[in-house]
Amino acid sequence: MHVKKDDTVVILTGNDRGKRGRILKVYPDKNRVVVEGVRFMKRHTKPSPKNQSGGIVKKEAAINASNVMVICPSCSTPTRVGRKKITEEGRKNTMRSCAKCSEVF
Ligand SMILES: [Zn+2]
Repeated sequence: MHVKKDDTVVILTGNDRGKRGRILKVYPDKNRVVVEGVRFMKRHTKPSPKNQSGGIVKKEAAINASNVMVICPSCSTPTRVGRKKITEEGRKNTMRSCAKCSEVF
């Protein structure tokens, strides 16, 4: 996955194209993410003890991770995330880095 929880991303496709939001959840096995305020699904619910009046509940739906682009926290530009391999004392680490300003995050 090129994104993780709490990343700020921009939506690349669909009705929400251009919207920015924070990632609330990732499903790595499904390659899907839930982005705050994006792709609301309306769910009609029956009255329950929790929700006494029932009605329509809005909830964000998961979207494909390839439809979002990470916004670099350093230069706040949507960017393709490069991978930097840093080998230190024999350790291998994959870091994400901004393709524009090379900031590692
Ligand atoms: Zn950057």
